[in-house]
Order: sequence, then structure tokens, then C-alpha cells
Amino acid sequence: MAYQGILNDQARRAQESHDRLSGTSEDFFYALDSIMVAELNAVNPEDLESSDYPPYIRLAFLQTDKPDLHLIHHHLIYIPDSIDGSLSDQGDQILLNLITQARMAKMRKQEEEACNTWQIIEEKYADQLLNNKIPLKLVSLLEQIKILSESDDIEAVNKVAERFYSYLLYPSVAYEASQFRFFWNEVDQMDLSLYPEVDSIRKLVEQKAEEANFLLRMISDRDPVFLQSKQDPAWPGIYKFPLNKDSLQSLYLSIEKPNNQRVGCLIDVIPFIDAQVGNVMAQLDPDQNLSWEVSDTVKSEYSSFTFSAYYPDLILNLKENELSFLNDLSARGQGLYILLFAFIAGLMILGLVFTIYTLNHELKLNRLKSDFISNVSHELKSPLTSIRHLTDLLHTNRVKTEEQKKKYYATMLDQTEHLSYLIDNILDFSRLEDHRKKFRFEQEDYSKLIDKWMSGFKDRLTKAGITLKIDLPDKLPKITIDANAMQQVIQNLMDNAIKYSGQGKEIEIKVWLSGKEVMTSIRDRGLGISKKDQDKIYDRFYRCEESQELGIKGSGIGLTIVQRLVAAHRGRISLESSPGKGSTFTIVVPIKQHEAYEKNSIG
Ligand code: ADP
Repeated sequence: MAYQGILNDQARRAQESHDRLSGTSEDFFYALDSIMVAELNAVNPEDLESSDYPPYIRLAFLQTDKPDLHLIHHHLIYIPDSIDGSLSDQGDQILLNLITQARMAKMRKQEEEACNTWQIIEEKYADQLLNNKIPLKLVSLLEQIKILSESDDIEAVNKVAERFYSYLLYPSVAYEASQFRFFWNEVDQMDLSLYPEVDSIRKLVEQKAEEANFLLRMISDRDPVFLQSKQDPAWPGIYKFPLNKDSLQSLYLSIEKPNNQRVGCLIDVIPFIDAQVGNVMAQLDPDQNLSWEVSDTVKSEYSSFTFSAYYPDLILNLKENELSFLNDLSARGQGLYILLFAFIAGLMILGLVFTIYTLNHELKLNRLKSDFISNVSHELKSPLTSIRHLTDLLHTNRVKTEEQKKKYYATMLDQTEHLSYLIDNILDFSRLEDHRKKFRFEQEDYSKLIDKWMSGFKDRLTKAGITLKIDLPDKLPKITIDANAMQQVIQNLMDNAIKYSGQGKEIEIKVWLSGKEVMTSIRDRGLGISKKDQDKIYDRFYRCEESQELGIKGSGIGLTIVQRLVAAHRGRISLESSPGKGSTFTIVVPIKQHEAYEKNSIG
């Protein structure tokens, strides 16, 4: 079924293509006809000297009252005999002397001198007609042949005969048919022993003479037989007739003019087609979508169209070129398929991009998670190791002085607090991720809380040799916060400030009031954060490369927690930092939270 459908579709398309080509062939034949008619209309009877005719116009003529014929242009080897036979004898004296001299020499049997004199006339008067009628060149050549034919010098005879026949073939001056016949017969009767190459020129002359005879007969007749044939209905007033004889394939075209005159021309069809077909096809098929060939046979895979009866047996072979896939679709009006195709291709590409993106993202997240686990383990391990070590010392009574013991207990307490801060951080992170974190907002004395929280950092700061500057306002109204959450925010920021202080030995915490908001900034003079990292540090598990390279412990969740906790307070966080100079994190929270929000807020 489907196969049959495809076959039907192919047959339908082949038929459509043939129909289109058939239209093109009609345009083609019409265009050729129009060019022919234009050539006929361009024949100007006033201008007999014109040489502006294309080579395929064999002759152009004007017929006046019978039987007068004027050749306007021609490629004939002679012209018709004129009716008016009056001769005017105004020969030039030098010429007459030369002729007399040559004849006298012949009579005196001085053949060589006679020949030489005729040769002078041949060269000097090559383009002249004696008495306006007789080509002087032919006269002198004939005389030379006559003299030489009586000698045994065959070579000399052939040389002159070659010049004689060549002149008949390509005359340098127009002369009449009767003259041609005269000279032709004179030499023909002599029965010369011609060399083959000379004889072949002679044969060519014979053929051309026959052709000229035929053509002249055709156009001389006022009403030749063929003119009784119909006029071409497509071209009213124009008479056409094919003239085919031997190698001659011409088309006779003529048109009636006022005063019983008729202008016509003979067009050599094959050279005409050769000259015009390229131009016509270029106009009909500017985009070169067609292949074409004019030949006398039908070409396979082409659609073939026969020329009209006025032309020789020729065939126009046309074929539509294979189109590219997309052009083919659009050429068949199936733009919808293209759209559909483009749409599906687009979807597939989009799907592919999305899959690659998701895969990449998943891979990155997985790597971050495994980094996180190893980072957290390391972070938890160091306080635990230190606690275990101190406990071991105390347990085995290896600490002697009471003062030393106190110091160790204090360190253990410190480490335990750090441990619980780390664990709280992880637990809070997990609650925030699952939106399970609950907040309890209460009115708090923020300055007091800051003081308390800062005292927790005293030992660490002292150990690290960092001085802490605390800048609190004199009077700060109570603000509504979740104290534990806010402590975690400040602790994380302080923890980072200490961790990433490097050689910078000063940290400043500053609190101030701005309108209805409380601002808290924590400034360190440490490593700083590059511009490209500033947007990423709040992403979970993200750690800047530099801090990892320096071996600073961390898990990449501190700032994520800070950002979410501040957001839960309807606040915001900002950062000013430049590498090597330090960083200032500023958090802004409103003094008051909305009541409804305070009661049941879950982060
Ligand atoms: P971490 O546990 O690694 O400190 P955080 O989320 O707190 O994770 O911080 C993310 C990254 O931001 C850190 O790894 C560090 O590279 C960078 N960072 C945070 N605070 C500072 C700071 N004060 N100075 C320089 N870099 C910082």
C-alpha cells in the first residue's frame, strides 16, 4: 500500500514536472520566433550598405514591382543579373593600355610577358569591374589560365586555377550571375588537370553556385509556390517558409510593406539556434534550475519537445535539476514539513542540552556533597582529637599542677563548644534545607547579645593574635529576632573572619541603626574574596579555591546558613571585599517583624 502510494506520488510529480517543462518549452519556441521576427523587422531597405547583420542572416532583400529584386545584404557568391544591361565604357587609360599590351604579347607568342602583364592587372584591379559588369580579376585569371594551359606547366596552371576558384568562392566585389556562368564555363571547358586540393575548391564553388541559384530563384519570384502556404497565425502579416536543400537549412521570412513592396530575409536556422538558445534559456530560467539541450535525438530522463515545422528536425530536451532536500520540500509547497522538521530538531537539541546540563549539575552536586562529607569529618575531627588527648592526660594523672588542669579543662570546654557549634550548624543546615527550621522571635537587647557572643571568641582571638574592635551604638531599641538564629549568623561570620584573616590582625564588629533597620558589619583584613567568587559563596558546599589551597578547614555551608537565617528575619546580606585587603559582610534586619510572621515562622 505504502509502496503503491510512493509510486503514485512519484508519477504525479513526474507529470507535474513535465507540465511545467511543457510550459517552458512553449515560452522557448515563442521567444525564438519573436527574435526571428525582430530580425526581419530590423532589415532596413534604405540601407543597402549596412553590414550590421548577424552571420546567420544569409541574405536580406527588398522586392519591388516584378521582377525587380534588391539585395540588401547577402552571403552569395554572385548576385542576380540586372535588368538594365547598359554598359558605360569609361575604362581607365592605363588599364586599357595594359590589356592591349598583354594581348599583343600573347599574339607575339611572348607567353611569359603576357602572363606577367595579366598578373599586374589581376593584382592592381582586383576589386574593379570592367564596364561596371565584368570582374577584372576574373578576366586576368582566365587569360592566364588560357596561356598556361597551352604549356605543359601543370603546376603553374594549378596555381592560377586555385586563385581563380578561390575568387569565385570569395569574390571581393559583387558581380552578376551571368558573369559567373561565363567564366565558370570558359574554364570548365578547358579540361585542366587539376590537383585534388584545387579540384575540391572547384567543387565547393559548384555547390555554392547551385545554392545561390536556388536562393535567387526563390526570392526573385514575386509569388513563389511556398508563399501560397499560410501565414503563421501567431505572427499576422509574416510569411514563413522552410528552405531545405542539401546542406542548406534556411527559413524564409517576409513581410508586406506599403507600395506593393515586400521585405524579407533568409535565416540559417542552425547557426541562429546556436547563437540564441543560450540567451533565451538564461531569460526563461535565470536561477538555472533546468538542464537543457537542443539536439536531433530524444534524451532519456529529459522531457522532449519538437520544434515547429518551420525548423529542421530538432528536439528541445528539458529536465528539472535535482533540488536539495529542503528546496525540494519547499518547492513542493511543503513548507509545513520544514517547520515541523525544524521544530522537532529544535526540541531534540533542547532536550539534549537540558540533559547534558542536568547531568553536569548532578555530577557537580554529587562531587560537592562528597567533598562536604570529607570536609565536615575533618572539621569535627580536630576538636575531638584535642578533647580526647586532654582527657587522656587528665585520666592518667599526668597533669601535675592544678593550674595546668584548669587550663586543660578550659580548652576542653572551648573545643566542646566549637564542636557543638559545628554540629548545630550541620543540623540547622539540614533543617533549613527541608524547611523544618522553626523560629522564635522575641524582643531582644541586641547590643547586650553581641557583647555576650563576642566574649565567646576571646580565647580564639587571643590565640590567633587578633584584636577585636567592637563598635556598638549608645542607645539601640530592642529588636525582634530569634536570638539563637542570630547568634548563629554572627558566629558564622566571626568564625570566617578569624579563619580567613591570614596576616590581618584586626577584626571589627560594628552595629548601627539606619531608619527602621539594624545594620551589623563584620570586617576583617584577611584574604578577601575575588569578584568572580562573590556571588557563589552563598551556594551550598561552595568553597573558594584559595582557602582550600591554604588548607583552611571548612564545609561550605556557613554562608548558606547565614543567608537563609537573615532572609528568615526579612533581612539581607551584602559583601564588600577585595583580594588581599579583607572583607566586610554587612547584615541588615528590620527592628520589628510583622506579628503574624513572628508567630509561626518556619525557615
Ligand atoms: P566554609 O565552611 O568553607 O568557611 P562558608 O560558607 O562559611 O564555608 O564560606 C564559603 C567560602 O567563602 C569559604 O570557603 C571561603 O573561601 C569564603 N569566605 C567566607 N568568608 C570569608 C572571609 N571573611 N574572607 C575570605 N573568604 C571568605
